[in-house]
Amino acid sequence: MSRSAHPAGPRHADVLPEGHYSAPPTDLNALDSKVWAETVTRDTDGVLTVGGIDVRRLAEEFGTPAYFLDEDDFRARARSWRTAFGDDADVFYAGKAFLSRAVVRWLHEEGLNLDVCSGGELATALSAGMPAERIAFHGNNKSTDEIRRAVEAGVGRIVLDSFQEIVRVAHIAQELGTRQRVQIRITVGVEAHTHEFIATAHEDQKFGIPLAGGQAAEAVRRALTLDGLELIGIHSHIGSQIFDMSGFEVAAHRVVGLLRDIRDEHGVELPEIDLGGGLGIAYTSDDDPREPHEIAKALTEIVTRECDAARLATPRISVEPGRAIVGPTAFTLYEVGTVKPLDGLRTYVSVDGGMSDNIRTALYDAEYSVALASRVSEAEPMLCRVVGKHCESGDIVVKDAFLPGDLAPGDLIAVPATGAYCRSMASNYNHVVRPPVVAVRDGEARVIVRRETEEDLLRLDVG
Ligand SMILES: *Cc1c(COP(=O)(O)O)cnc(C)c1O
Repeated sequence: MSRSAHPAGPRHADVLPEGHYSAPPTDLNALDSKVWAETVTRDTDGVLTVGGIDVRRLAEEFGTPAYFLDEDDFRARARSWRTAFGDDADVFYAGKAFLSRAVVRWLHEEGLNLDVCSGGELATALSAGMPAERIAFHGNNKSTDEIRRAVEAGVGRIVLDSFQEIVRVAHIAQELGTRQRVQIRITVGVEAHTHEFIATAHEDQKFGIPLAGGQAAEAVRRALTLDGLELIGIHSHIGSQIFDMSGFEVAAHRVVGLLRDIRDEHGVELPEIDLGGGLGIAYTSDDDPREPHEIAKALTEIVTRECDAARLATPRISVEPGRAIVGPTAFTLYEVGTVKPLDGLRTYVSVDGGMSDNIRTALYDAEYSVALASRVSEAEPMLCRVVGKHCESGDIVVKDAFLPGDLAPGDLIAVPATGAYCRSMASNYNHVVRPPVVAVRDGEARVIVRRETEEDLLRLDVG
């Protein structure tokens, strides 16, 4: 996705006039509960703590950079999604946001289902004991090997993304002597991000089968004739980091229109509708995400209203939040290496990680917040840009942020809301090793994904 096509809206830095920044916060030491994980607070010495453990101790034991994940918060968010939708709907956690075996076990225990989109994610899910029937398999180019493994494992659904895949999955299922439950992913011409959505007739992207031009109807026609497939529903995913429900409204209207056409043409009422994920979280204090119960209520009302109008029984709804569950539960802890004031511009603060542990700022122009974590300070705020250690000038972690003017090498700073799409998109650029993920709960910290070592890197390089 090109930068210009990604999260926009009036608060986006690109549309602010040069040199225009919001005023510094009144208290640089305050922690906005919107962007920090549930148990994050400051202890009596002013040191940031999570799950009752202070970050100086965590840094000593696990090193920096590292992601610290608040397990209770993860479980609470997963549970609140599940209870918000109740027993008449299914919540699939989107594994691509962040997946590990510990996460799979938490999801299983909290009664959620799981989306995977590669053989590697499928292997992780199965190896941690997620029942196959609670797994959905996504992707626009699943290999025949991946499809075979998914069908053999008995995944609950495969989400079909192209005409070729309809035939491919049907063929493999038949070879294996089974009927695979499938949904068809369609694109409804709704492009949604953050504070805006655009509804068009066509959608210019690689995922799904277009509703436009009767293509989705044709896909349904073909899927219904194939013995290897049991078509259970239609899938639509409209974007990411969405706050505004009106995009879902247009999408649901169009999906239900297709369900009505299917009933009229084939006499079949498909029992399920999947509205995808994409619900937004707070990366900065300016973001106001909705609670799961508000989202559940809104989506259920929209689908019920549309189905009533089409005189269809309301299908079972499923949703696929990734970011909204794991995003707010983790922060990245860095050590400051250098502090470089550039007169009249800003101060560059270099940390011991960067675009290899958080590519979202470089890739999407994403916004983050940051706080001094190892102490509090009463120094005047200074406008900073937090940058990494990579050989690349676009290696920015936090574009614009205020940090105390006495910030110095050796200080620990923390970037909140890095639970989603940070470790999962991490790279080894510059042969930097990827940081660990440490789960913290009730005064105990344990590594759930260990730090890579240079030996790991050399092991892949067979000379
Ligand atoms: C990425 C993705 C999701 C999850 O998106 P979030 O923004 O993390 O909620 C859900 N469903 C599908 C099909 C996706 O591609």
